Amino acid sequence: MLQYISASVVYPVSSPPIENGVIVLEEDGTVHAVLHLEQAKEQGFENIRHYDGFLIPGLINTHCHLELSHLVGKIPEHTGLQAFVQQVIKHRDSSEEMISEAMQKADLEMLANGIVAVGDISNQLVSRATKTGSRLYYHTFIETLGFNPAQAKTIFERALKMKEEFKPLKASIVPHAPYSISKELFAAIKDYSLKEDNLLSMHNQETEDENLFFQSKQGAFLKLYEFLGLDISSFSATGKSALQSVIDELPKSRVLLVHNTLTSVEDIRFAESIHDGLYWCLCPNANLYIENRLPDVQMLADAGLNITIGTDSLASNHQLSILAEMKTLQENFNLSFETLLKWATWNGAVYLGIEGDYGTLEKGKRPGLNLVEFAPEGKISDKTSIRRII
Ligand SMILES: [Zn+2]
Repeated sequence: MLQYISASVVYPVSSPPIENGVIVLEEDGTVHAVLHLEQAKEQGFENIRHYDGFLIPGLINTHCHLELSHLVGKIPEHTGLQAFVQQVIKHRDSSEEMISEAMQKADLEMLANGIVAVGDISNQLVSRATKTGSRLYYHTFIETLGFNPAQAKTIFERALKMKEEFKPLKASIVPHAPYSISKELFAAIKDYSLKEDNLLSMHNQETEDENLFFQSKQGAFLKLYEFLGLDISSFSATGKSALQSVIDELPKSRVLLVHNTLTSVEDIRFAESIHDGLYWCLCPNANLYIENRLPDVQMLADAGLNITIGTDSLASNHQLSILAEMKTLQENFNLSFETLLKWATWNGAVYLGIEGDYGTLEKGKRPGLNLVEFAPEGKISDKTSIRRII
């Protein structure tokens, strides 16, 4: 049986918003038609359920760390990245049961917040059971970390083994960040990506010290390496920013750069001139939590980049909600609801390679359907809410 659902505005994302639009859904949630209320009435459709608010497709969270969910509320805010990383490591002794319970809860939280697909960073196998039982689509990024060239092969092989263990879940092998990967490990990932379908994601320029480290091998990162017991003697300063230093090490397939808090307009020009598969993920609430600053989102938006949105983990966020990220972006920058929605749906779906099913309200897709209420004229506030219709 078909369902007829109408709202004040329907945002198909693939086409302009429709005032008093109607979505016709098949029983399993597949979109059968998107049309105007007048057309629906002309065609004799009855039992149209109407809502005051916006109907939007399911949201795509392109950056999360499900396995850190148990750290909710554990790490103080505004400590800066180095102290944050140290805190995460110190809290890694929680029981597996506690970690699993927290992940289940986080998965359900994302579901309730209208998220349908997640790009999730994993350093361990522990999230596999939660992902297997979830209603959400997960792409797992198996994250490698290793600054010591001698260990590159071992680290990569460990990641390959983990990828096997995650099967049949979709997974790829990715570098953690410019400052934590040796040239040799980058090369192993690049080689592999040329042979295999290997979707890439990398944390990028989260803090000033990351650029400083590459530019002059100075700054607070030296202390972090000391804490981590990492030998950085083989590294020489490049005189360039972090992104400009490593962009050539990445394969030319789709790559998601995450955070970009300290990315400059020169970095963007440079990176985009040699790589045409870049996507730029914003996690504003995590940036505020850790560093208490935001990327120059206006500049990123004006540059016409492929932008996506992520929540990061509950270690550095109070909730896993793409709507909450959109709200922060709108509060701090001049961005329309429509622009933010495209980042939160279509762009994320294309990046994850799931745009055939997700990201827009179009006939034949099963993208999920959310109702956004209390956002007059597209202004997201504390009063704005989201709930799943299907
Ligand atoms: Zn992250």
